[in-house]
Amino acid sequence: MTHASRRLVERLRARAHGCCEYCRSQERVAGEVFTVDHVVPRAKGGSDDLDNLALCCYVCNPLKGDKTEALDPKSRIAVPLFSPRAQRWADHFKWSDDGLLVVGTTPVGRATVEALRCALSKMRFGYCSERSPCRSLRWTSGATSE
Ligand SMILES: [Zn+2]
Repeated sequence: MTHASRRLVERLRARAHGCCEYCRSQERVAGEVFTVDHVVPRAKGGSDDLDNLALCCYVCNPLKGDKTEALDPKSRIAVPLFSPRAQRWADHFKWSDDGLLVVGTTPVGRATVEALRCALSKMRFGYCSERSPCRSLRWTSGATSE
């Protein structure tokens, strides 16, 4: 990796607060370096610019692959996948009442959960919320200070 691309990944990591931009898993809880997702895949003309990149866990990234749309399980209509660059996570997802599952609240959210199996990765690695980037670390390990 070149110095320039390392700097780009560090900017990406800082912008995402160290969380997968799809399932909200935390990189430091997962214990592995997250990958870079091209929101619009290179195979479909997506660029390497920061505004087309998302920090992505190693569970979501291979599931997303080159997908840009999936079926909304409710309507059975193909809709675009969630775009971390163009959309707000909280507009398309919420946490289940027990705080354990990512729930899609719109066709885009439902299709993305279905396509990426966000709930499974979150169950394994914890998550962070819009308001509290370190929420999962608290309930996972109790090791954070507040
Ligand atoms: Zn993820």
